[in-house]
Amino acid sequence: MRNKRIVKIGDLKIGGKEKILVQSMTKCKTEDYPSLVKELKKLEKVGCEICRIAIKTDKAIENLKRIKEEKIIKMPIVADVHFDYNLAIKAIKAGADKIRINPFNIKKEKEWREIIKVAKDFNIPIRIGLNAGGIKERKKDIEKIILNKLRETVNFFENEEFYDIVISAKISEPLSLIGIYEEIDKNYNYPLHVGLTETGLPFEGGIRSGVAMGILLYKGIGDTIRVSLTGDSVLEVIAGFEILSSLRLREDLPIIISCPTCGRCEVNLEKIVKEIKKEIFKANIKKRIKIAIMGCEVNGPGEASQADYGVAFGKKGGVIFAEGKIIKREPNETIIKKFIDLILKNRI
Ligand code: SF4
Repeated sequence: MRNKRIVKIGDLKIGGKEKILVQSMTKCKTEDYPSLVKELKKLEKVGCEICRIAIKTDKAIENLKRIKEEKIIKMPIVADVHFDYNLAIKAIKAGADKIRINPFNIKKEKEWREIIKVAKDFNIPIRIGLNAGGIKERKKDIEKIILNKLRETVNFFENEEFYDIVISAKISEPLSLIGIYEEIDKNYNYPLHVGLTETGLPFEGGIRSGVAMGILLYKGIGDTIRVSLTGDSVLEVIAGFEILSSLRLREDLPIIISCPTCGRCEVNLEKIVKEIKKEIFKANIKKRIKIAIMGCEVNGPGEASQADYGVAFGKKGGVIFAEGKIIKREPNETIIKKFIDLILKNRI
């Protein structure tokens, strides 16, 4: 259950009763500074709260340092390092707010000791980020291998008197993920970063993540989340917030609902929903308001009577309604703009 030890990442806190934060990871080459800046800014704009970047080279370290020095973004940056403990040390010195290390590929105790020493000096946390990828043993043994490795690593950290730990143990099978995290939650008091890995394209990846993470979060397991997707990193953030919002674990986001459409619908509702959603996201509303977009004015207002704001379309025009009452009739040419203006005018 939640209420783990609190760990600081930049200006944010995770663990305890702090809100569950949404993470993503950049997909561009960290070595490509303009692309890195662009992607980080885009992620921050859609609400990403912590972002991980891959650190593979000294050029990536240089760019991490530059991002921090130029204060390009406010959200904390996590340096993701594999194999080379020297890069982990350099990333900490370059200003990373947290580092993520996979104990399956940095193995020597001497190297761990050096990373821990520098993390202590710079007062930053380390995510022990286990990942089933790369384990050669048979499938049935994977969960045991992950949990054993975790125990061994956490014991080592604690013997070194390092406690600013975040734990993750990612795997691509939803039911295995649930089992592993339930076990970790029972046995450790450190904040947990939850995410399914190798989930696939956004549609199936979003569903698989929603199932696995939804069950864990509902049980109170998880302090930060990432919906890993093969696709735009912005979608990872949107999907993360959708999961938290569906479980009412975050109340600071608008909810957009729309009907499935049927033979009564006279407009291209899918296109309209995308257009309205884009505007609502851009407006960065920090309030739980339910916005309904309905395909026909005959049934729409009634079906969406629980929404705070709604719009329902007819052949030539439609209606705007709020809390179940129709407040405006508009031609289809202007109704979308009028609807968005009304929401933005009443935002808090
Ligand atoms: S709101 Fe209208 S178009 Fe949408 S599903 Fe209901 S009846 Fe069909």
